[in-house]
This record gives sequence, C-alpha cells and structure tokens, in this order.
Amino acid sequence: MSTLPEPWRDDWPLADRESVSACPVCSGSARTQLLDGVVDNTFRTSPGRWTLWSCADCQSAYLDPRPSAASIHRAYRQYYTHQAPPPAASPLRRLHRRLANGYLNRRYGAREQPFSRLGEALIGGVPYLRRFEDRACRHLPPLPSGGGAVLDVGCGDGAFLALAQRSGWQVLGLEPDAQAAAVAQQQGVPVRVGGLEALADRHAAFDVITLAHVIEHVADPVATLRACHRLLKPGGQLWLETPNAAGQGLRAFGHHWRGLEAPRHLVLFTPQSLQRALADAGFERLHHPPSPSVRRWMAERSLAIQQGRLPDDTRGLPWRWRLRCWVDDLLDGPGRARGEFLTVVAHKQA
Ligand SMILES: [Zn+2]
Repeated sequence: MSTLPEPWRDDWPLADRESVSACPVCSGSARTQLLDGVVDNTFRTSPGRWTLWSCADCQSAYLDPRPSAASIHRAYRQYYTHQAPPPAASPLRRLHRRLANGYLNRRYGAREQPFSRLGEALIGGVPYLRRFEDRACRHLPPLPSGGGAVLDVGCGDGAFLALAQRSGWQVLGLEPDAQAAAVAQQQGVPVRVGGLEALADRHAAFDVITLAHVIEHVADPVATLRACHRLLKPGGQLWLETPNAAGQGLRAFGHHWRGLEAPRHLVLFTPQSLQRALADAGFERLHHPPSPSVRRWMAERSLAIQQGRLPDDTRGLPWRWRLRCWVDDLLDGPGRARGEFLTVVAHKQA
C-alpha cells in the first residue's frame, strides 16, 4: 500500500500569508466561518491549514488568510498527478466520436475528422449528448462574417483553442505555466506565458473571452472580469466556468469536496455572487447555458479524497449517491444553477 504525502503537516510560513478582511467579491466584512483546517488533500503538494469563510452579503466563500501573491506559486509546484494512459477506444466510442465530430462540423464549422453527417441529427437531436459537445466548444457564438477572435485566459494545453482554431476563429491563449503553454504552442496555438497583464495595453480586441476554472484562482476576481470586459469588443461574449459553492457537493463532503482545492482556490462563487461580480464588472445578459452534469464525476472524486486517496483514484459510486445525483440533476434542470460547476455566458453591451 502506498503512503501518500501529507504536506499539511508543515505550516505555510506566517510571513507568506496575507489576511483578507473583506470579501474579495463584494467587499462586505460580515461573514461566518464555513470550514476550518482545510488542507490540500487534492494534489497533496501544498503545506498549510486554511479557513474558509462565507460572506454574509454575497455568499461567496473565500480563504482568510491566504498565501501572499509573492508566495502563491509554491502552491502550484509539482502537481502530484496520477495519470494512466488513456484506454484504447472501443468501436462504440469511435462511432460516438464520428457522430460528435459531425455535429461539431455542422454546428460550429469545425473540421474534425473522421466525421459522419448523421451526427447533426443523432447528437444534435439528443440534448444529453449535445451538451457535452456544446460545452467542449464553450457555447461559441456563430463566427462573425469578417472573422472573429477568441482569447482563452488560463488556456492550459490549448485543447479548446485548437478546436476554436479548426472552427475558423483567430485564437490567443494566456497561460502562466510555461510547460503547459509549450504543449499548446506545439499544436500551433499562439500562447503568451502569463496572465491578463500581458494585454494591459489592448482594448476591444476579442469577440469571445473564456475562463475555464480560472476565476477561483484569482486574488481580485472583479478586477479580472473588468480586464476581460475592457478586452471584449462591444457585443462580445464572456464564457466562464467555476466550482459552485451553492451546489450539493460542498455541503455533502465538506473538507473533502473536490472543488475546494485550498490554497489554490481563493474564492468560490454561488450563482448570486457570480452574477453580482459580473454585473459589477459591466457585463449584462447573463445566462446559464445548458451544460452536462458533473455531479457524479465530482462525487466520485470527493469520495476518493474522503477515503484518503488521490481524487482520480476512483472506485465507483455507491448506489445511494448515483440516485442522489440523478434526482438532483432532474430537479436542477440543464442550466445547472445548483450543479457542481457554474457555467455562465455574459455579454458586453453592443
Ligand atoms: Zn461578498
């Protein structure tokens, strides 16, 4: 039996912590303690025990204290990953991919291969299947007739931007991790190493900006959203996804919830607090697009953490959890406002 590291036995040095006396989303100071002694039981790389607070005004959850800006990079050092090679695709999976490619090519103008024209009806006509493909394309709007530009903040290995590129978009990625940026660049995706400060002199330059699981890592999320607003052209679209502090998972799993990821996740939003942050940054016409459910995915990983394993070392989900996820999916509806992730589309005034 392998013994996993327990980095929380060490403290995060006192001099490298900063206090957060007001809510990073709404600046409110009234709050209640949500969880104490939160540790990095997800990747098991980061020292320290952390306290998570819930803002009484906007219901965001946030760490106080948190790592200082100068020291936070230590929380990203050497992710302790456990990667198995991907299983060989079964004939059924290959057929599904062909059909899904047909849907992507038709709906988003992608050029995926191999594809089947039947996909438009067989994937497009089945909401459960269609939602996975729409999410992979981050609900991109139709390509403007004169061409359009997409910026992905925190683009990782660039998989989404490569797909957007194959769908006719001009693309640019920002990625603080130089190794991930190199993988994206090898695929022909242009990436700048860094964050939004790399584009500080740009205005109204993009039709679409996406942030997938980025905003929860940011010390000043409203400032980040304002920078995105500035960078969008009038009428442009912001797409954002982040863990939902109002979902079932945080309440059910507490310290073991996969979405916590202290101290990398500094702020966790609820539908209301995200709406407020987006409105404060100038966005309008917010909606939750129909998205696939990640309840079972999150529950399996939270259970693994609860049982002292790495999150991807999953062992299946007990039937009561399957039932619970199924019922919650039905009650929630496809916008998933009570789901484990919040997926939001918002616009800059035209
Ligand atoms: Zn607040």
